[in-house]
This record gives sequence, structure tokens and C-alpha cells, in this order.
Amino acid sequence: MAEVKSKEAVEAMEVAEASRETTWEKPSFVGDLFLGNLNLDLIYPFPEQPVSDKQEADEFLAKLERFLAENVDADKIDEQGEYDYSLFEGFNKLGAWGMKIPKEYGGLGFSATNYNRAIGLVATWCGSSVAWLSAHQSIGVPQPLKLFGTEEQKKKWLPRLANGAISAFALTEPGVGSDPAKMSTMAVPTPDGKGFLISGEKLWCTNGLKAELLVVMCQTPPKVVKGKEKKQITAFVVETATPGVEIAHRCQFMGLRGIGNVLIRFKDVYVPRENILWGEGLGLKLALITLNTGRLTIPAGCAASGRKMLEIAKDWGLERVQWGAPIAKHEAVAAKIAWMASHTFAMEAIVWLTSGLADRGDVDLRLEAAMAKLFNTEVAWQCVDHLVQIRGGRGFETATSLRERGEKAIPVERIMRDMRINRIFEGTSEIQHLFIAREAVDPHMKRGYKILLPETPVGEKLRAAAAAGAHYAAWYPSKFIGWSRFPKFGEFGKLSGHMGYIERASRKLARSIFHAMMRYQAKLERKQMVLFRIVDIGTDLFAMSAAISYATMLSKKGGDTKNAMELADVFCSEARLRIDTNFRQLFDNHDESSYRLVQQLIKGDFDWFKGQVVEPVMPTVEQVEEAIRNLA
Ligand SMILES: Cc1cc2nc3c(=O)[nH]c(=O)nc-3n(C[C@H](O)[C@H](O)[C@H](O)COP(=O)(O)OP(=O)(O)OC[C@H]3O[C@@H](n4cnc5c(N)ncnc54)[C@H](O)[C@@H]3O)c2cc1C
Repeated sequence: MAEVKSKEAVEAMEVAEASRETTWEKPSFVGDLFLGNLNLDLIYPFPEQPVSDKQEADEFLAKLERFLAENVDADKIDEQGEYDYSLFEGFNKLGAWGMKIPKEYGGLGFSATNYNRAIGLVATWCGSSVAWLSAHQSIGVPQPLKLFGTEEQKKKWLPRLANGAISAFALTEPGVGSDPAKMSTMAVPTPDGKGFLISGEKLWCTNGLKAELLVVMCQTPPKVVKGKEKKQITAFVVETATPGVEIAHRCQFMGLRGIGNVLIRFKDVYVPRENILWGEGLGLKLALITLNTGRLTIPAGCAASGRKMLEIAKDWGLERVQWGAPIAKHEAVAAKIAWMASHTFAMEAIVWLTSGLADRGDVDLRLEAAMAKLFNTEVAWQCVDHLVQIRGGRGFETATSLRERGEKAIPVERIMRDMRINRIFEGTSEIQHLFIAREAVDPHMKRGYKILLPETPVGEKLRAAAAAGAHYAAWYPSKFIGWSRFPKFGEFGKLSGHMGYIERASRKLARSIFHAMMRYQAKLERKQMVLFRIVDIGTDLFAMSAAISYATMLSKKGGDTKNAMELADVFCSEARLRIDTNFRQLFDNHDESSYRLVQQLIKGDFDWFKGQVVEPVMPTVEQVEEAIRNLA
């Protein structure tokens, strides 16, 4: 099945690897889970938001809610495919452009938890507004500037950004999406060495339509390292008012129709050297770290949307009577609502757990953030699909049409369109899988990779094999032994059985990763479906752990939230079914025949199967020539 890697693929991998964060200075709950260690102390007791921190944002959130309800007409924005730019000033008065910017630079200095509370609130009302606010500060200039800027750079730009100067993040290009290492936008040094001239195109730049400042990733001249030329990618802060910056196209989408997303063209755009962030050659690493740290925003939006969707499902399930009963009383509908409720609870648990840990700052969250993005975007999409089904024909009808014929304007159709992109931008679900898989197998790779490489000299191979053998002789048997039965996890009450399952499954997962390494050796990298199942098991185990920790905290509080255990229990039961299926199919599957089928399909072997389809009329040579003349 495995194909020989092209030179281009090898180069892309090398650049991506060089930009990977390789050190783990803080402990990682998920990293440990993949090694078969349930390090519960890292996530339990649940990192509850301190009261003083909560109070910092309570008043702001109340004002934000009122502002949204009174001023933001999400359906109108969606229908017009254009944002209401008069809202920008209102957001500015609230301080919403500077939520993540430290107070000393004029921002609100919110913790990750408070920022995600605010983003979640906006997400329950208007997806396009979320995109404007979060593209600006989750990935736009403030985020990398805070992480990597010099004091001088921070003083220069952060106050402006906090005061409503919109910013954007420009990485993607027409030829470069998931694999940004191959980008072609160039920054050529000027002869005096004081600056650079940027030329190229950046695609799908959210906020680009109104942005004053962009962070732009460009290729700078390559460096020779150990006799080999190494590609350099560098991040620049670019003022859009600089001559040569042109908005070449305003993009329109299926959802988030009010976002100002554009194709930007740069033609000899001068940028002074002082505008480099972090350093020459560090741009891809900066972009990836920015995306990693900004990655909690989308999950927060998904979880909050999940709560809103559940509310709609619950109300409609009670209100709509068919076949003599409210539809929520029919088991098939109830099962969907149960799925939505239990999985929304898990989404929330993940968001508040990761936000709390981010604020505490003592845990490495790289893997958890990627899992949050993967899990919450996939779950929220499944929730909206269930919701459309529960709403029946009304789920497919626009809010305006519903209102015009006298029904409640419930925007399920818009929520579905807005939701879909979450599985694609800021790293697709497939790329999250690959990123997590890379880290899951890394501890074993470090020990075993040299042994598996054909070019390793025999002596070195033997030494590496002896060291690995000694390690695995102790490690492997230890992954069969554990204590997960009562009373080990007694403090989790009715969820203790699920916690025991996590402990056993994490050891089985660690053994399975080891088996996969032994079975496929260096080819494991291309056994994506095996890796994806490993990641899905790990992600469900993480979600279960988060849900149990969160539910235990809520239930101990008593009062209304006492029954949170019920939500976690149903979620864990569902997740266990998925995990068991994934374990069963890990090596016993039809991956090979599916892969073979597609290779035949793309070669044209099944063209007979195409049948009659309407093909678009091809333009004439004259029409193409005229289009080229118009472009010029
Ligand atoms: C509305 C919107 C807003 C956006 N905002 C921004 C922004 O502000 N700034 C910015 O820089 N970019 C932005 N993007 C770009 C976005 O991040 C990319 O669309 C995304 O990274 C995926 O790239 P792509 O669309 O080119 O897909 P591709 O990379 O072409 O991938 C196509 C498909 O192949 C899969 N795939 C690719 N490689 C692999 C692999 N090795 N193994 C398995 N599967 C693979 C992908 O998962 C995907 O399913 C935005 C895009 C949209 C649509």
C-alpha cells in the first residue's frame, strides 16, 4: 500500500518537523494517557474558575449580552452576506477587541476562561461576530505579538489593536493549505538590509477586508545548515495601508456569511526589518504555536452553540406533538436529544478544563487543545445534524421564512451552515488527527526509529536495539498490570466504573500503539486509518476524563447541578461503545481494500460508473482570451 515519498513530500515533512515544538517542559495528561498512565492529579480536582477571576468578566458579559441582543441582527447579516460595520464601534466601547490583550497595553487582560466565556456567549447569537472577534485576537496580530514580540513591538501595536484596529492572520495561499511549509509568498531583503519587499498571495484571510494590521508568513532567503539548503519562513507584521497591498477578491461562503474574508495580493510591499516577529526563519513555528494556543476558541464556540442547540431541541421536543405524543417522548427522538445533551456536557467539560489549565499554566496543553478542536467541532456538527432532524422541515427552512409565515424565527438552518467550517479552518480534523498521532507515537519513535531505518549502521542499530529492549522488557508487562476496580475510584461515585475503564483502556491503548509500531515499523506514518483510530480512542478517553472530573465537581456542589453525573454517565457509556469499536477495528479492518479501490478510482478504472451527468459548457478560446485581457 505504501508509496515511495516524493522529494517534495520529504521536504515538506522536514520543514514541518523543524517547526514542531519538540520539548515537553510541563506534564501532559494526554501524553501520559498514550503511555498508559492515568495521571489524574493533572485534571482532578477540576480546575474551577476562581471567584475573583469570574467577577472580572461578569459585568462585561452582561453588557456584551445586551449589546448583542439589542444591536446584532445575525439573520440580516447572513442574508446580506455583509457584516454591519457600525457594530465595530459598539464592540470597541465594550473593549471587546482587546479581551485577550494585557491591561498594561490597554486591553481587558482576560484569562483564557473569561475570554472563552465571552466567545461562547457571542457564538450563541452570531457566528460571523465570533469570527471577527476571534480572528482578530485568537490568531491575529495580538496573539503572536504577545507570545513573541519585543517590548518595543508590543508597545507600538498592542494599544492600537486593543482600541479597535482590526487584525488578521495570513498563512494560507491558493497552493498551500494544510501544508503551509510549501508557501510561495516571498520576502526579499532590500539592498540596504533595512527591510524586505513582500510579493505573493494569501487566501481566505479572515478580517482581511477591514484589517489595519496583518501577521503574514513569508519565505525569506534560505540558509545553508550542514551543507544543506534549508527553507526559511518568517513572520512579519504588515500595515495594510502600505503601497502594494491589494484586496484581490472578497470570498463568499456557505456559512459565516458576514465575515470579511479575502484573497490579498502583495506586490513589492515594503516592510521594515523591525516588523519581524520572533526572528528570521521562525515564522512557521510561530504560526503553528499561535494556532496551538489560539485553538481553544473554536471549541468554546462549539460548546456554547451546543447548549443553544440543546435548548432548541428540548423546547421543540416538548412542543411538537406527532402521533399523539410530544416528539421527545418517541424513543428515536429522545435518543438524539440524549446524545446532544451528554455530548454537549463533554464539550463544556473539555472547554472549562482546558481553559482552567491554561490559566493555571502548569500543564502542557498542546495535545488537549488539538483534541478539544477535533472533538468539539466533530460533536457540534453531529449535534446540528441531529437538531435539523428533530426540527424536521423547519430545520431546513430559513429563520426569515419561518418568521414571515408567523412561526418563531429559529435559525437552525443558519447554525448548520455556520457550523460546518469549524472542522476545516485552523487545522482540519484530519490534520488534528495527524498532529496528535505524531505526538502519541513520538516516545516510541525516539526509542525505536533508528532501529527501523535501513540507513542506520549495524553497530548503532544493535546498541539502539539493546537500549530499547531493556526499556520495553520492563515497560510492556507493566501495561498489563493495574488496579482499576472498586474501591480505587470510589470518590467518583456512579462514575467510578467509567474511570476504571479509562485506566484499563489507556494501558490497552499504550500496548496497541506499541503493537502498531512493531507491526508497521517505519510505514506506520502512512497507516493513517490505524493512527486515526488510536487518536479517536485517546480523544474519547480524554473527553470521558474531563466529563467525569467536571461532573464530580458539579455534583459535589449540590443544588441544581447535583445531577450532572447523569449527563456524564450517558456520555461515558456512548464513548465506551466507540472506543470498543475502534479497538476491535484497529488491525481488523478493510483499510487496504478501501485504499486500493480509491487508487483505481482516481486512475479512471471506474469511469464506466459515472453515468450521464450534465457537464459545464467549456469557455471558447475567445472567451478565455477576453478574461485574461480583463484580468490584466
Ligand atoms: C472561512 C475560512 C476562513 C479561513 N480563515 C483563515 C485565516 O484567517 N488565515 C489563514 O491563513 N487561513 C484561513 N483559512 C484557511 C484554512 O485554515 C484552510 O482552509 C485549512 O487549513 C485547510 O486547507 P485547505 O482548505 O487548502 O485544504 P487542503 O489542505 O487542500 O486539504 C483538503 C483535504 O485534504 C485533507 N488533507 C490534507 N493533507 C492531508 C494529509 N496529509 N493526510 C490526510 N488528509 C489530508 C484535509 O484535511 C482536507 O480534508 C480559512 C478558510 C476558510 C474556508
